[in-house]
Amino acid sequence: MKGVTLLGATGSIGTSTLDVLSRHPDRYRVEALTAHRDVTGMLALCSRFRPRYAVMADAGAASELAGKLSVGDCPTEVLAGVDGLEQVATLDQVEIVVAAIVGAAGLLPTLAAARAGKRILLANKEALVMSGRLFIDEVVAGGAELLPVDSEHNAIFQCLPVDFRRGLDGTGVTHILLTASGGPFRETPLEKLARVTPDQACAHPNWEMGRKISVDSATMMNKGLEVIEACWLFGLSPEQIEVVIHPQSLVHSMVQYTDGSLLAELGRPDMRTAITHALAWPERIESGVAPLDTAALGQLDFSEPSLERFPCLDLAYRAAHAGGGAPTVLNAANEVAVAAFLAGTLPFPAIARVIEECLEGCPAGNPGDVEAILALDGEARQRAVEPCAGLAGDPG
Ligand code: NAD
Ligand code: MG
Repeated sequence: MKGVTLLGATGSIGTSTLDVLSRHPDRYRVEALTAHRDVTGMLALCSRFRPRYAVMADAGAASELAGKLSVGDCPTEVLAGVDGLEQVATLDQVEIVVAAIVGAAGLLPTLAAARAGKRILLANKEALVMSGRLFIDEVVAGGAELLPVDSEHNAIFQCLPVDFRRGLDGTGVTHILLTASGGPFRETPLEKLARVTPDQACAHPNWEMGRKISVDSATMMNKGLEVIEACWLFGLSPEQIEVVIHPQSLVHSMVQYTDGSLLAELGRPDMRTAITHALAWPERIESGVAPLDTAALGQLDFSEPSLERFPCLDLAYRAAHAGGGAPTVLNAANEVAVAAFLAGTLPFPAIARVIEECLEGCPAGNPGDVEAILALDGEARQRAVEPCAGLAGDPG
């Protein structure tokens, strides 16, 4: 029986994870659930899963939840803030921490789980992108186990040789191919992008996800963040990562070997496959996902992404090449610009322009510790405010 802490329990990945956990009550015990400020959602989860702890990042929401839980017989203790998140990510009785908070807010609890030597199921790619080397060093120093939940990286993990962590030299791997659906605007005429709405951007053709990652998929910044994520997870250089548009989202990614073999992982676009794989690895257990009906698959299409349509992908490759603090700045500027777009104050094409302006002022050099990373993240968020305001009514 393994104890699990689920960071980001009320989100899309959180919901899929709880579905998988509830299929295996004999193997996994939910020790702690966390959320930002959704008291109603958390109350329902606490009644159903009866975790030892519930953490609300927002202090007001934590008091409200504690008040509501005190009237029933639920055994859950409520904690608050980043301290609470770090506490439940490091509990002795927890072996597995699912990192499914969205954005930079997930960094500190995920790093705490790494230091405490947990098995980390990483969905929160922003945490790894913003802290890169430091994150990987903490995983190694803490004796933690990092398993990718992002579907592309989970596919790559499954297609690489088992001992890939000793380095890819001599394994015959030449490069990897990350597949991308192209999002909802893959074929929208470019001149119409200035008027697309948040709801249109969040209507992803194949995956149901939170709003921030849905916008990232529409700009393809999601794939850009995934290129940087793959560099750190698999010890690759950006040149070894190719992005290919595959609108059906059935091939989740591929690994090219020197003898001409191209290994792929296929499945339905349902995150429960990757979550279950990472939970049980190296075992295989049931996830609730039906097998692909290969006879009914029809056509699988692949094409090269246009950098004119998807400038955010180009910006992410540039940040990956630049290294140092550039990925931290890229991520922070993107979070600010996407929030402004979702709030209806920034046109869709301006997201890339805000990020580009912020990257231009990016200081060289590597932020050496977590304080330096958080300081750089904060400065970049400040720097993004002005172009966000300046481009507010700009049709792009
Ligand atoms: P979501 O918006 O549906 O859920 C986010 C979760 O994080 C919620 O539980 C929310 O309460 C919590 N949260 C938000 N802000 C917080 C804060 N400031 N402090 C503490 N908690 C906070 O997002 P999602 O789609 O589940 O994505 C979560 C992460 O997984 C993201 O990093 C995303 O890129 C990654 N991911 C998601 C998918 C997917 O299919 N949804 C696929 C691959 C990777
Ligand atoms: Mg992905």
